[in-house]
Amino acid sequence: MIPLEVARTRVLAGCTPLAPRPVAVAEAAGLVLAADVVAGELIPPFDNTAVDGFAVRSVDVTGAGPSTPVVLDVVGTVAAGAVADRAVGAGQAIRIMTGAPIPPGADAVVMVEDTTALDGGDRVAVGAAVGAGSAIRPAGDDVRPGTVVFRAGEELSAAHLGVLRSLGLVEVVVHPRPRVGVLSTGDELVEGPVALRPGQIRDSNRATLLALVAAAGCVPVDLGLQPDVEATIAAAFEDGARHCDALLSSGGVSMGDFDYVKRVLDRVGEMNWMQIAIKPAKPLAFGHVHGVPCFGLPGNPVSSMVSFELFARPGLRRLGGHPDDRLARPPVRAVAPEGLRRTPDGKTHFQRVVADYDHARAAYVVRTAGGQGSHHLAAMAAANALAVVPDGDGVAAGGSVDVLLLR
Ligand code: AMP
Ligand code: MG
Repeated sequence: MIPLEVARTRVLAGCTPLAPRPVAVAEAAGLVLAADVVAGELIPPFDNTAVDGFAVRSVDVTGAGPSTPVVLDVVGTVAAGAVADRAVGAGQAIRIMTGAPIPPGADAVVMVEDTTALDGGDRVAVGAAVGAGSAIRPAGDDVRPGTVVFRAGEELSAAHLGVLRSLGLVEVVVHPRPRVGVLSTGDELVEGPVALRPGQIRDSNRATLLALVAAAGCVPVDLGLQPDVEATIAAAFEDGARHCDALLSSGGVSMGDFDYVKRVLDRVGEMNWMQIAIKPAKPLAFGHVHGVPCFGLPGNPVSSMVSFELFARPGLRRLGGHPDDRLARPPVRAVAPEGLRRTPDGKTHFQRVVADYDHARAAYVVRTAGGQGSHHLAAMAAANALAVVPDGDGVAAGGSVDVLLLR
């Protein structure tokens, strides 16, 4: 058995970020920049008002207060999207709406709440003094031309897309979303609402893995359910390698007699067969089929999910250009009031737990999510985290443990 980190290092060494290409900003959420973005424009593009109110000369309203209002002539109105057709002179004000450009002559805005309209709006009583620059958002206050706003390696969030759009950009150079093919293997598997014959079970892994692929920010590609027949398994892998950036299969990588996946992958690919000191998900095959990274995940439903989390997800994120320190989920420390028991076996256990944030303790608290067998998929569904329980007797009641928060 090899340590988890050794296996993960092998996987990551075999996953190279996909070649950068331009992608529409609208499609780029979650993708990783492959080049710096340099601002070519000011944000905001002009001095504008942060409030609805009156653009004034601050010297005119010095000393204004609730009981000592200053009365100004209202000489115009400027809405967002318009520009004032005249300047603000001494003793004058222009009515202005949030986002509208500051008229020439004005150097401050009094918010409408501090004013009272007089003479049907021809004049205004200002009940508050404002300093120069008050309620004005200067041009370039957020971003100035020539500034590197985002660096290569940054993941594009919703706010990033807004900034790109603010700069007038419609495309960005990113690592594209990896296309990831998923296949299930096994003669015992069936799909759909058919009645099960003796010995048959339903294919659950493909639905699970396709959803995990999508949640990891990749494009899931369904490569179907393959019976334990060498020729069709080989065709599925080779076909997948032609139009996918990575391949995931489940089943057929353990020590069984009918593990055709192993035979096929050794023929069409270059694979590394690993036994990893973890439970569940001890066996993992990783390598390449015609240059495309290929993960042979274990067949047991919980094992395939844990293996995806620990190895495939970091590898796929690497293909998507995520930086090295963002590939695996960072553990958080949690308290286990009831403990998490186990027996020593030389492996790190990834126990399925429910983690809740306890405001009184200001810490996450975990409890078991149920059965810890690698077939206990319902307990996996009940879990929202994996507790990383080191080799030994487990975590005593009230002890602490690292957890990976899955959602
Ligand atoms: P294998 O690694 O092929 O020996 O499979 C290990 C266990 O996982 C067996 O109990 C299989 O029936 C089960 N298994 C394999 N593939 C799937 C699948 N796609 N969906 C549900 N269970 C599976
Ligand atoms: Mg099988």
